Amino acid sequence: MKKETLLIALGGNALIRKGQEGTVEEQFENLKLPIRQIARLSEKYKIIITHGNGPQVGNLLLQQECCNAVPKLPLEILVAQTQGQIGYMIESTLDSEFMELGITQYFITLITYVVVDEHDPGFRNPSKPIGPVYTEEESKTVPYPTRKTAKGFRRVVVSPEPVTVIEKNEIRKLIDSDFLVICCGGGGIPVIREGRSFHGVDAVIDKDLVSAKLAEEVGVDIFIIATDVPGAILGYGTSEEKLLRSLTVDEAALYLKQGHFPPGSMGPKIEAARRFILNCGKRAVITSVDAIEDAVSGNAGTEFVRQC
Ligand code: ADP
Ligand code: MG
Repeated sequence: MKKETLLIALGGNALIRKGQEGTVEEQFENLKLPIRQIARLSEKYKIIITHGNGPQVGNLLLQQECCNAVPKLPLEILVAQTQGQIGYMIESTLDSEFMELGITQYFITLITYVVVDEHDPGFRNPSKPIGPVYTEEESKTVPYPTRKTAKGFRRVVVSPEPVTVIEKNEIRKLIDSDFLVICCGGGGIPVIREGRSFHGVDAVIDKDLVSAKLAEEVGVDIFIIATDVPGAILGYGTSEEKLLRSLTVDEAALYLKQGHFPPGSMGPKIEAARRFILNCGKRAVITSVDAIEDAVSGNAGTEFVRQC
């Protein structure tokens, strides 16, 4: 029987958990839980892993700004760096888990760039939180825009919509050849077309939105968005929180409009899952990194109800 294709989008914030400093040791430790589940799932499904880079790319940007001894690197290059660093951490964790489980599985990390539109309104309004969390007082002293998020105050950068994933054909070929593919890291390196060539721009694309685009372009069956909360919650941060176990695309659009799911965090996850289902994907689930397998079997998270 033909294996279904499962796309798992891992949150950059799930690699560095709330309250952690974000050391490499912490990130390797945090990866074990989702990666062990993904290793087991690879026996039943073809797998694509995408991942975020919010905390990591923000930290790299701060490192640039702290050092005057060498030339500073632009954000597009830092996004590329996070594809390498997180791709390496995912690969080496996968390697250990496959070894321990006695599974033979090829895998590969692909540098991915993603076309954006230079006229995208997202270039005018920084919305994507990156780097460390600040107190309100600290946020007033830093020399860049910040915004209040559910986690605290964070630096924000511009975040245009993904138009197309350049390496979509290569990714499909790798999947068809039974590779587990790690790609679109940090939302992909944002590039704009200039005639027949591309050049990078300083922005960070949301990894959930690019995952939905990739899913559409390569034909994914099941889309799992794994983050640091159990799913989409109504009344998030209040005493009346309610975890939504299922959501239709119309309900999702309504709750988005009502402001239950803010931009730059839960908003793009809801929108990504909604787009995936509208494009006739079979199942989309937003879940916690601890419950990826349960979400695949229908026992955890917020499931988007199929309407095609
Ligand atoms: P990731 O790195 O996984 O993409 P994000 O920080 O972008 O993580 O998005 C997940 C965060 O969204 C949660 O940690 C939570 O603080 C925030 N959030 C905001 N609104 C909601 C909501 N309504 N339901 C659940 N989580 C929410
Ligand atoms: Mg996010």
